[in-house]
Amino acid sequence: MDNNLPEIEELIKKFSKLPGLGPKSAKRIILKLIDNKDTMIKPLAKSLANVYKNIIRCNSCGNLKIINTECLCEKNDNKYDKICVVENLADMWVIQSANIFKGYFHILGGTVNSNEKYEQKNLLIDSLVKRIKKNSLKEVIIATSATVEGQTTAHYIEDAIKNDKIKISKLGQGLPVGGEIEQLDDGTLVSAFKSRVPVSND
Ligand SMILES: [Zn+2]
Repeated sequence: MDNNLPEIEELIKKFSKLPGLGPKSAKRIILKLIDNKDTMIKPLAKSLANVYKNIIRCNSCGNLKIINTECLCEKNDNKYDKICVVENLADMWVIQSANIFKGYFHILGGTVNSNEKYEQKNLLIDSLVKRIKKNSLKEVIIATSATVEGQTTAHYIEDAIKNDKIKISKLGQGLPVGGEIEQLDDGTLVSAFKSRVPVSND
């Protein structure tokens, strides 16, 4: 693929932007796709179009849902009294697969750094406050990453919810400084959850 067609170059560029892929692996994937146009490109294009058309983020809990349907979070089932706040879907998935938390999840949709305001980033913090009230939740576990951005974001969350007579805790020991939730193994996550520390109200 030295003298690439512009169509292919374009595709390589787009694939290279995906997490975990560089130009080399992007090229390998594209070659594989082109060699299997009917069995791979066609169904892939169909699935992508389907997701584009029908899947959106819920603007209350941040999880994905089918457009024009009620999200699970809108059904006030009072099943749990805890909520775990994470940065993104991948973080929720690792916590779910580690099987360490029984409660609701709230997906912020990113982090802020100290120069930004969460409103600018469309982080779902206001809707977190609403969900806490609506479901009469008793504990909020802030499971943002141990990065500067993750901790700044955690402070925003604490400020937004701390008047609500609610127990706020953060993940405890075992969480390496700079560690992203998504990258942690199950053992580390379990110990971080078990040793979660209350946030003081000052
Ligand atoms: Zn929702």
